[in-house]
Amino acid sequence: MRIEKIELTHHRLPLDPAFPASWDPEPRRSFTATIVRVWAEGVCGVGSGDAMPGFSGHEGLFVGQDPRDMGRHARIIDNLSFHYGRCWPLDLALWDLLGKLLGQPVWRLLGGRQPVLPLYASTGVRRGPEATAEVCTALKGRGFRAIKVRFQDEDPRRDLARVQAARDAVGPDVGLMVDANQGWRMPWDDRPSWTLKDALFVADALEEVGAFWLEEPLHRADVAGLAALRARTPLRVAGGELARETHDVDRYIDARALDVLQPDAVMVGGISLLRDAARRAQDAGILFTPHTWGNGVGLMANAQLMGGVGGCPCLEFPLDPPEWDLPARDFVLARPIVADGNGCLALSETPGLGLDLDEAALARTRI
Ligand SMILES: [Mg+2]
Repeated sequence: MRIEKIELTHHRLPLDPAFPASWDPEPRRSFTATIVRVWAEGVCGVGSGDAMPGFSGHEGLFVGQDPRDMGRHARIIDNLSFHYGRCWPLDLALWDLLGKLLGQPVWRLLGGRQPVLPLYASTGVRRGPEATAEVCTALKGRGFRAIKVRFQDEDPRRDLARVQAARDAVGPDVGLMVDANQGWRMPWDDRPSWTLKDALFVADALEEVGAFWLEEPLHRADVAGLAALRARTPLRVAGGELARETHDVDRYIDARALDVLQPDAVMVGGISLLRDAARRAQDAGILFTPHTWGNGVGLMANAQLMGGVGGCPCLEFPLDPPEWDLPARDFVLARPIVADGNGCLALSETPGLGLDLDEAALARTRI
């Protein structure tokens, strides 16, 4: 059994022009996707995520190798991701390929612990309290039992008013998480992240609203600050979504800095290395549930990982209608990934990641 070929393609879907003002200060004009395909025995595995800058020219490190040597491939991808851009989408494609070659879904190959995953609807659009309440009500109507609201105002008290509006709208039985997004800065951000005192003020207020977790309340490097916050609030502290290396993930675990660890298989470690990180986190009493914020391929890869290792309180499901609904999020797929009526994702017995690409859409959007 030998890997025969690897191919990268890049795609762009223009955003509905009615909506760009709703996004961040640097308006988002399109959704982009990189698709990586890897072939063996005439079977094709598919991954997606970052554009994998620097990968081109290194296909020979994989072509001719046995596709079942996943530990070896993960080491090479880790090396490439250090020297160049993140190449973990290839790990996803190799798992898809392996599952298809073995006739098994990836979640079963990884341990088969949790075939039905509760989801939370993850929102990101800038809105006031009334619009936040409307969207949360609509998401509850679609079956979601948990919703995440993103902070975005210079004054967190205005964002706390939005969370209160969401709570008033959905009632006490829907889980509410808050993403402070202080762990990393967007290109236009010229302010520093919150201080520990800022984070404590928000955590105390969110405790009153019955929030499930506060995500990324401090800069990603402030491991000691996160640990101090965790010790001083009963609210769960979440983070780790954009860790660049698995060593960064280890630091959060070793310092017991988080209650909820959220590395993304698309961004760090792929499925191969995050499987081990999940086990280490769980053994340290830390909930593991990956971040995902791209198209359905990345979402499904993280879902398959979670289904394999189990212990998922709820999995991120990017959804923020009307600006970001399933046809746009999953434009690379023949069928979007949908939640069932109970706000859960049931993993299928389809071999590999269980996805089909929309080849016509990919041809139309190719750049
Ligand atoms: Mg986040």
